[in-house]
Amino acid sequence: MPESAMEKINKFTRRELKEDEVYRFSVILCDNEIDRDGEKFTKESLEKLSELYIGKTGIWSHDPKGENQTARIYDARVISDPTRKTADGEEYRYLKAEAYMVRTESNADLIKEIDGGIKKEVSVGCSVSRQICSICGADRRKGGCMHRKGATYSGRKCFDKLIDPTDAYEWSFVAVPAQPAAGVTKRYSEEISEKGPAANDIAEELCEDLKKDILRLSYLSGDGIPAELTKAAIERMEPFELLKLKRALYKSAVSYERGELEKALAGNGRDAEANSSFRV
Ligand SMILES: [Zn+2]
Repeated sequence: MPESAMEKINKFTRRELKEDEVYRFSVILCDNEIDRDGEKFTKESLEKLSELYIGKTGIWSHDPKGENQTARIYDARVISDPTRKTADGEEYRYLKAEAYMVRTESNADLIKEIDGGIKKEVSVGCSVSRQICSICGADRRKGGCMHRKGATYSGRKCFDKLIDPTDAYEWSFVAVPAQPAAGVTKRYSEEISEKGPAANDIAEELCEDLKKDILRLSYLSGDGIPAELTKAAIERMEPFELLKLKRALYKSAVSYERGELEKALAGNGRDAEANSSFRV
């Protein structure tokens, strides 16, 4: 007999919980569509993430200490949608997770919000060991190539494939999705930078990546600063300054893009598809 949801949940609990003590819901963690960073998970990466996310906790507010405000994933699987294709022509697939919370007085409102569909955008963090250019197969973590994500080469749009996830971090509910279809943002590359000073050559490589990101984000955020000026300025910056600048630019790029999206939505008066992606 297949394991019931409660049997799976009780593997993570100190005492055996009864059905009416827990609140169960589903979240879509990520998919294989090319996201706004020009990156996508492969089918195999999603399968691997479905294992890595089991047991991982999610947080709801900006206060991870709110212990009653956490949920835990007890099951996850990759689901295919044969009626839909990704931008690069693959069958659409997404990672759907089942999560639970222990019902308490303090999370009653939160549960109402989830039931009402207010909390529906999920942010995930994971690390991947390889990031492969879709045009030539070069690994961006190992120097990469001259192809730029988002650019078109002989009619093929360049994007990165995220290969071989090695770890999944906490997930949380956020306001702006990076993967509009799944309502998901990821922050795997920043996780690596946050590990602090690495060996010299790794640090150097990370700085080069940061500089590339900064130039790209500076353009995307619509700040209007000429690329030559930005280039000259970042050459003189310390790694930590580069990281801080990248984060600041990322924020303004996201809000700029959000503004554009809102304008577009107001224009044709339909709901973002992201709104339908979180189902309880
Ligand atoms: Zn390439």
